[in-house]
Amino acid sequence: MAGWKDYIRRVEPYTPGEQPKQSNIIKLNTNENPYGPSPVVCQVRENMDDLRLYPDPSAGMLVESLARYHGVDADQVFVGVGSDDVLAMAFLTFFNSDKAVLFPDISYSFYPVWAELFRIPYEKQPLDASFRLVKEDYYKENGGVVFPNPNAPTGIYEPLDFIEDILQHNPDSVVIIDEAYIDFAGESALSLLADHDNLLVVRTFSKSRSMAGLRIGYAIGNPELILAMNDVKYSYNSYTMNRPSLILGTKVLEDEAYFQSVIRKIITTREWFGNRLKELGFTFPESGSNFIFATHKTVPARELFDAAKEHGIYIRYFDQPRIDNYLRITIGTDEEMQRLVDFFEEYLK
Ligand SMILES: *Cc1c(COP(=O)(O)O)cnc(C)c1O
Repeated sequence: MAGWKDYIRRVEPYTPGEQPKQSNIIKLNTNENPYGPSPVVCQVRENMDDLRLYPDPSAGMLVESLARYHGVDADQVFVGVGSDDVLAMAFLTFFNSDKAVLFPDISYSFYPVWAELFRIPYEKQPLDASFRLVKEDYYKENGGVVFPNPNAPTGIYEPLDFIEDILQHNPDSVVIIDEAYIDFAGESALSLLADHDNLLVVRTFSKSRSMAGLRIGYAIGNPELILAMNDVKYSYNSYTMNRPSLILGTKVLEDEAYFQSVIRKIITTREWFGNRLKELGFTFPESGSNFIFATHKTVPARELFDAAKEHGIYIRYFDQPRIDNYLRITIGTDEEMQRLVDFFEEYLK
């Protein structure tokens, strides 16, 4: 075998949810928002000729809008190409010791992939039997802590005093809270920034802001953390954010009313859909997200997943220990959820 093959960086890649090409399906498998982004994005008339120019490497326009929106200083905001890019940069920047980084065994499956890619030691901490994080597991010595709140794919939200306990026990590590779904849940950890210089809060425009296709994510933390992340970013690729994303991302922040109305609609749908699921014999932890993580009392998840797909409804199934009898179902429109309820009703008869 040729010697160069020994030098390839071999990694086991993350498997994203399917993005089927057909248009006549109901897509409830990757937690996208069923509603479009704010109509204000249609008012943007970008001069296409400007695309010949590099974008602002500091993404200044979007950074400043986000700072204003969240009431923080601009030097506390880092933006990237989706929160996946932001999280990858944060792993590379902060998880740089010989000690293991800690995250839950059932969580966002990209974390172990980045850890492997960047050769970061890590140790998964098991969720308890009801899929709750056990905060004491994160009190031991470590090289960093990361978890989503609400957690994915469970949807469970932990209140701020829980997060604060973990921060207090980790003054020497960076603690990353991945708030991809926070807008569907409760209070954000942003309010803890004032007292914890080791906290990094990561957010995305992909779920609650209906802009997965634009790839916008950001992190908020103390200026020293943000500076360190920018140094790493500028050592890798200066122009991560493209011009249309900078402009459209800035624009949608102006339309708070639309944003709030979309979130209210999804939460309302989540509640009635959850009640219907219960009537159909499913159980699930209370969701603080735009999905429900459900298991059926008699029919295996795998079977339901396959049958729903056959029927043109895509939901998510993880063939993983502990959760291989669960389905993660994204909350779509009322009509889409009704179609899924009708399908389950028929199938489970
Ligand atoms: C969807 C998701 C992300 C990534 O979202 P981007 O589209 O890259 O912004 C990050 N973390 C969790 C927990 C997610 O579910």
